[in-house]
Amino acid sequence: MLMGGRIRLWIIAASVAGLIALAVVSWLSYRNTKELIAANGRLAQAHKLIEDLTALHLLLDDAESSCRGYALSGKDDYLKPYDVALTQLDITTQVLGHDLADDPNRSRQFQELEPIIQARLELMKGLVDARRKRGFEAAVRVVQSDRGKRLADEIRRRISAMQAEERNDLLDRERESRERARSTILVVGVTCLLGIALLLAASVVIYRLNRQSEKDHLALQNAERIQRTILNSAAYSMISTDPAGLIQLANAAAEKWLGYTGAELAGNTVTIVHDARELQSRGDQLTRAMGMPVPGDYQALVTKARYGVADEFECAYIRKDGTRFPVLLAVTALRGGDNDLAGYLMIAADLSDRHAMRKMKDEFVSVVSHELRTPLTSIKGALGLLARGVTGALPPKADEMAQIALTNADRLSRLVDDILDLQRIESGRIAIDMRTCDIADLMRQSVESVHLVAEGEGITIAISPCQGSIRADQERMVQAFVNLLGNAVKFSRRGGRIEFAAERTGSIVVFRVRDEGRGIPKDKLETIFERFEQVDASDAREKGGTGLGLAICRSIVEQHGGRVWAESELGRGSTFCVQLPLAEADAVTAS
Ligand code: ADP
Repeated sequence: MLMGGRIRLWIIAASVAGLIALAVVSWLSYRNTKELIAANGRLAQAHKLIEDLTALHLLLDDAESSCRGYALSGKDDYLKPYDVALTQLDITTQVLGHDLADDPNRSRQFQELEPIIQARLELMKGLVDARRKRGFEAAVRVVQSDRGKRLADEIRRRISAMQAEERNDLLDRERESRERARSTILVVGVTCLLGIALLLAASVVIYRLNRQSEKDHLALQNAERIQRTILNSAAYSMISTDPAGLIQLANAAAEKWLGYTGAELAGNTVTIVHDARELQSRGDQLTRAMGMPVPGDYQALVTKARYGVADEFECAYIRKDGTRFPVLLAVTALRGGDNDLAGYLMIAADLSDRHAMRKMKDEFVSVVSHELRTPLTSIKGALGLLARGVTGALPPKADEMAQIALTNADRLSRLVDDILDLQRIESGRIAIDMRTCDIADLMRQSVESVHLVAEGEGITIAISPCQGSIRADQERMVQAFVNLLGNAVKFSRRGGRIEFAAERTGSIVVFRVRDEGRGIPKDKLETIFERFEQVDASDAREKGGTGLGLAICRSIVEQHGGRVWAESELGRGSTFCVQLPLAEADAVTAS
């Protein structure tokens, strides 16, 4: 592309240079040719002048010899050439006078010559008259006077001088004319060479451009073929749309999974493969989370991507025959070179297998947990009776072992409860009962649950609630907060302080549980929210945890359209934050 642009610039520059050169050369050729024609004209004129002067001289001589013939013979016949010469002399003199008018020097010379010619003609006339009127003797006397000879010599001398000068001029003009001809040939030659050079350069450039564009075309075809192959061999459904959500392209996987042909999909809105109710609820969820109206149409799919936020979520794809399957959908905004929105790319991974596996695992966990629960309850009961000495006092060693067994049976029982709880929440088997809950009430109720344990450790919990309410399942939300507060108590030093605060910004509220405990390393801040993940392997044993509390907490918060995360400074404490949308009426007041 860059190369083509440079070549194009070269062509324009060369064309402009060529045009200028051709214009200059054409103008020079025109001027030279014009001057050459003028020089040739002057040459012809000089030749004619020399010839006319010679003719003038010859005519005078002819006239004179004709007069002398008459003087000798006395026959009128001899005067015929004289009369003809006189007429021609008159014409030649007029022609010469006219031709020399432009040249002041020659014109002057000719004007000086004319009276001498006239005198010679008068002399000839006198000779003819003397012969005719006074006879042979008188004519001989006229001839014998040397005036005629002197006039003839003078005329010859002047004509020769004029001719000599004209010849010299002629030579100069011929030289000038030759030079003009040479420079004209040179200019025309240069023009031809330049033309040939330009033609050659143009051919080379056109040839190179053609080759380049052929190469570009091939490269483009190859790139397109490779792209298509990649798209079609991908194990993901890929659908691209324009900015208005109209489908442009669908790869082979999309066609196969959805049962539509590419032509059937093209031009349709992308919502054709989505569940309208799912889009509506996602639109509502985004409206709450983003604090701006997001319609429940294709915009529910693309709004986050349009704002440059990476968006990946689970949803259902609906086949042409109406059946559906779960997908993990990643939406990316496609932008052109000028960063203008060109459309969206929707890449979906089929989650059918994963969901089936998850279902199997959940069922397995559920069955195993339930099966564990019953024997565990009897073990715990029996151990409790033993440890409390209901069956009689135990020897100290046996008592210690009974206590250890009871503690571990308790842990195991909590673990089974947590596993069942998490699995029920994640599989959506627990219906969430959304009601408007007062933020301060929710916080107070949560603190009450951990109040006694905290007091036992000399830990104080300070509450700073804010006004307002959220839409939540109160019991579940309290469960999540109790989990965070319980952890804060667990990981605080004796006599420590915990803060539980809520703060509103716009249409959201952020709850913070801050402790002054040991803190959490940076690389664990995210992993602790995964199942069975703990900062230290000994935490479970020493603090009696199961490693499931935060996973349960995240599930609950996400089901409420919020998010939870941890911030911490190692050795100085941790803060767990829960962000939730405010109830609609509060959000409106807030904005
Ligand atoms: P557990 O039942 O083990 O507390 P959680 O999922 O609630 O399980 O917590 C996971 C782990 O995260 C804990 O074992 C602990 O290592 C770490 N953790 C949680 N809360 C805190 C806290 N406030 N301070 C330090 N570490 C914490």
